[in-house]
Amino acid sequence: MTEPLSAPKGTYDILPEDQPLRRRVIDRAEDVFGRYGYSRIDTPMFEDTRLFSRGVGESTDIVRKEMYTFQDLGGRSMTLRPEGTAPVARAYVEHGMHTLPQPVKLYYHSPMFRYESPQSGRYRQHYQLGVEAFGSAAPEMDAEVIGVLATLYRELGLQGLDLRLNSMGCRECRPAYSVLLREYLDEHADAFCPECGERARLNPLRTFDCKVPGCRSALEVAPRLTEHLCPACAAHHVRVQEGLAMQGLTFMTDHTLVRGMDYYTRTTFEFQSSLLGAQSGVGGGGRYDDLVEAIGGPPTPGVGFGTGVERIVLALSRCGVTPPPPRRPVVYLVALNGDARRAVFALAHELRARGVAADLDYMARSPKGQMKQAGRSGARYAFIIGEEELIGGAVTVRDLSSGEERSLESAEALSLALAAVTGV
Ligand SMILES: [Zn+2]
Ligand SMILES: [Zn+2]
Repeated sequence: MTEPLSAPKGTYDILPEDQPLRRRVIDRAEDVFGRYGYSRIDTPMFEDTRLFSRGVGESTDIVRKEMYTFQDLGGRSMTLRPEGTAPVARAYVEHGMHTLPQPVKLYYHSPMFRYESPQSGRYRQHYQLGVEAFGSAAPEMDAEVIGVLATLYRELGLQGLDLRLNSMGCRECRPAYSVLLREYLDEHADAFCPECGERARLNPLRTFDCKVPGCRSALEVAPRLTEHLCPACAAHHVRVQEGLAMQGLTFMTDHTLVRGMDYYTRTTFEFQSSLLGAQSGVGGGGRYDDLVEAIGGPPTPGVGFGTGVERIVLALSRCGVTPPPPRRPVVYLVALNGDARRAVFALAHELRARGVAADLDYMARSPKGQMKQAGRSGARYAFIIGEEELIGGAVTVRDLSSGEERSLESAEALSLALAAVTGV
C-alpha cells in the first residue's frame, strides 16, 4: 500500500466546517475597511528576494531565518511573501500611485509564508488581513489606522484585548539611541542569550524581538527610545495618543514593542489578547516613513497594520463566538423509481439555475434512504416524484419541519421553492 501523505509541517487545511467563521471575519473586515476608504489590492505570492532584504531588513529574524527563498528556473532568487507591507509598497511605487491624490489607502487579504517553529502555535502558511495608507505623515493617520483595527475587533465581538503603543523614533533620533542601547547590551552581555549577542551587533533594537525571559527582564531596565525621541517624534507620539483618546481607545505604552521589522518609524502598536496565552498578539502594525524610499520609490510616509485570520478565529472561539450555520439546501429531491430519477435530476438542474439550493441522491439509495438524507441535509422541503407525479406533471411537497405533505403542479412547486429563497 502507498504511504499516505500529510500536509506539510506547520500548515493546515481549512475544512468546510471552518469556513463560515473565517468568512464572517473576512466579510466584516472588508466592510470595515471599505467604510474607512480602503480599496483592495492583491500582489503576487512571491517576490524578488531583495524586496524583503531591503524592505524588512537584513537584521530581522524574518529575513535571517524564516523566509521560503528559492531560485527559479531562470536563476532569480524568489521569496514567498513573509509579510504584506513591502509587496504593497512595491506595487505603490511600480504603478506610480504617488501621482494619485494622497493618501492612497489599500487593503489586502493574503497568505503569508514563514518558516516558524510550529509549536509556538504559528503557522508556516497563515492568512493576514491588512491595510496600508501611503502619503500622509499626519499623526491622525496613525490613530485612524489603529481605530480601523479596533473597530474590526469590536464588531467581530472580540473581547479581552489590550492595545500597546510605542514609538520607534526616526532617522534623526534613533541612531543616537542605538548607540546607547548597544552600550547597555555590551555592559550587560552576560544577561543576554547568544542570539541577542548577534542581534546587538547587527541592530541592537532587534534584541526586543527576543522571547527568552532573561533577555526580556534585562531589557526592562535598558534605556528607552521613547525617552530619547527628537522633538518632532515626541510631538507626533503625543498627537497619536490624543487621536486614540478621541476614538475612545485606551492603551498602554510599551517600550519593548518593536514588531520584528526594520522598516518601522515612530508609531508601533499591537493588540494583545489574554485569551491567547503567551503568544498573545492578535494584530498590529505601525508607521514606516522610510520604506518606500528604501525599495527605490520617492520619499513617502506610510502607516498600516496586519492581523492574522487564524489568531482572530482562535480568539473568537475562546470568547465563545459560535460559527454561523452552514448553508443548507432549500429542496431535497426524492425519486421513487428509475424514471423519476431522471425527472428529479432535471428538476434539480432547473432549481439551481433559478437560484434555489437543491440536492439529491447520487448513491442509488432506496426511497426511504433518500427521505432520511433529506432530513439530514437540513432542507426545508422534500420534493418527491414517483410514477403518479410523473403522469400528472406534479410534485409531492413535504415540509420537512412540520411533516405536512401536499401535491402541487411542477410550476407551483418551483414558485414555492423560489419564495423560500427570496423570503416572499
Ligand atoms: Zn525622531
Ligand atoms: Zn535573547
